[in-house]
Formats: sequence, C-alpha cells, structure tokens
Amino acid sequence: MTVLPPPTLRLDLDAEALAHNWHALDRLSGSARAGAAVKADGYGLGSDKVVPVLSQAGARDFFVAHWSEVPAVIAHVPAEQVSVLHGPVTEADCAFARETGVRPVLNSLAQVARWQASGGGRCNLMVDTGINRLGLSMSEIGDPALVGLDIDVLLSHLASADEDNSRNAAQLARFREASAAIPAARRSLANSAGIALGPEYAFDLTRPGLALYGGVPRPELGGVIRQVAHLRVAILQVRDIAAGEGVGYNAAFVSPSPMRVGLVSLGYADGFLRAWSGRGALRSGDAELPLLGLVSMDMVVIDLSEAPALREGDWVDVPYDLPTASQRSGLSQYELLTVLGRRFRR
Ligand SMILES: *Cc1c(COP(=O)(O)O)cnc(C)c1O
Repeated sequence: MTVLPPPTLRLDLDAEALAHNWHALDRLSGSARAGAAVKADGYGLGSDKVVPVLSQAGARDFFVAHWSEVPAVIAHVPAEQVSVLHGPVTEADCAFARETGVRPVLNSLAQVARWQASGGGRCNLMVDTGINRLGLSMSEIGDPALVGLDIDVLLSHLASADEDNSRNAAQLARFREASAAIPAARRSLANSAGIALGPEYAFDLTRPGLALYGGVPRPELGGVIRQVAHLRVAILQVRDIAAGEGVGYNAAFVSPSPMRVGLVSLGYADGFLRAWSGRGALRSGDAELPLLGLVSMDMVVIDLSEAPALREGDWVDVPYDLPTASQRSGLSQYELLTVLGRRFRR
C-alpha cells in the first residue's frame, strides 16, 4: 500500500481555545445566545474541525454564506440549525433548502417571493439597516409580501462595529424599528465586534465569527479571546551564503555579511501572501528568524543567525497572533485566516 507522507505545513487548531472563545462571547452576549459564523470553511480553519467543537460548546445557530457550504456543516449538526446568508437566488436553492431543512436567509422581496412560490416554510429574514449590502430596505419593512412569512430570526448586519462610530447607534435604532414592524421568533444584530458594543446590541442571538477563531476586532475583546490557529512549517534546506549574495526572486534581499539561511515550506500558494515579504519573522523558541526577500509560491527564506543549529526537517513556528500579524502584514485579521491554503494539514 502506498502511504502518502505527511505534509511539511501544519495548522494546529486549539480546540480548547475555540470552545473558550465561544463561551466568552456567549457570556458577553448577556441574555442572548451566541451562534457561530462558520462560512468560508470555518474562516479557513476547516468546517469539519470547528463545527463539532462549537456545537459541543453549546452553539445552536450556524451561519454559512453559500449553499455549497451546507453539506460540510450538516454532517455535524441538525439542518435546522444552519442558515444560508446569501439566500435563495434560484429555484434550485429553494428546493435544496426544502429537502435538507436548512434555513434560507431571505434578503429581498424577490427572494421572499421565490421562497413563498416554492412552498414557503420556516425562514430567516435580513433587513439592511445601513451597510447597503444584502437585506430588505427599510422602506420595504411594511410590505404586505412579508405577512404570512414564518420567520425564525430577523437579522441585520453592522457596518462599523469595530469602530466607535455614530453609524452603530443609527443602525441599532433602525433595527428596533424593523423589529417592531416584522414579527419573528428571534432577533439578531451583533457580529463579534457588535457583541463588544454592549448588551443593547445583543437581542436574542449574536453571530460571532472572527473572534471565535482568535480575531480581536475591538480592544474590549483583547484580554478575553485566545489564539486558535497555530502554524508550523518545516525547514527544507539550510544554506550558508557569502556576503553580497542575492536571496530569492529578483534578489530582493542581499546579504550584508556571510550568513546561514533556511528555506521553509511556506509560500503564497499556502496563503502566506507577498504582503509578508521582508516583514516579520518566523520563530524557533525565543529565536526570531526574519523573513528575507520575496515570498515565493512554495517557499520563503529565513535568517537562521539566532538559531544556527536548526537543520533540514526541523519545524519552526509562524507567529499568527491575529492582531499582531495583521499589523505586521497589512492584511486584515479576516484575510489572514481565510487565505490559509489547502496544503496545510489541519
Ligand atoms: C460574516 C458575518 C458575521 C460574522 O462576522 P464577524 O465580524 O466575523 O464576527 C455575522 N453576520 C453576518 C451577516 C456575516 O456575514
């Protein structure tokens, strides 16, 4: 039998930290219950890994964006706990929702009509209170087409919850207005950052995503949220280079003196984007191993001066504390998670 050797990149998921983060966000949600946004394959960490942990922790409401993301989630939790944020764009979407029992989020009067024409049933409804993305307009909240909808969750999404901004209070007021006009079993407004805005934003159900996975969108969550994704990569080769040697494509780094460098199995095809070129460092214990030159598709070169004993096959850490990594790379905390490639062993 052919045995596939293990990959040279590892994404270790700290399940305890993930459960801790859900509990912390659930507590901060006050009388509301925390759900979980698990779209984009659980923010890149793997639906198969995060959904069972979140369900075990106590989450009962899971949000994906696409219909294609449903099977990976309902493999672990009952279909009626899963909502599809993009809503039914086609008849096929309606049929799929009906057959699986997954909840569509209706985002427009056209989607309402499509859902009702397909037979209707329990659904969720999104109202746009100011982000101008998906959702009914405020001018449509009294539309007669909404009468007779069987709505579990009435939801809206905050545009600027990660900032102190008057848009938050304005959206809150509009959401209250929509809630008064549209009968629903539950109401939901806050994402991760929204939870930190205070109890009046929590309603019945909150929808954290980023903070579950270690992201810190507001300082209030800083001491509370723990890192969930830990990246480790293997050294493929060690080289000693002379002064004046160029490293990698375009010789974007030139050695100022003789130095020992390591080639590491991590590249932009793994989601370690070129934004990292020449910024930041990998680590081995306390040793900082600065990135040298451009990030390639499958490799990056690091300075081994602080850890000259490292050898081919040794593993090093990719610091991935999201707020710090975001500051260093210029990428958002959301991007840092969702770009992580398939070659990582999860
Ligand atoms: C992605 C998403 C969330 C989760 O947002 P975070 O900022 O990751 O907490 C919540 N609600 C909706 C509608 C979303 O699209």
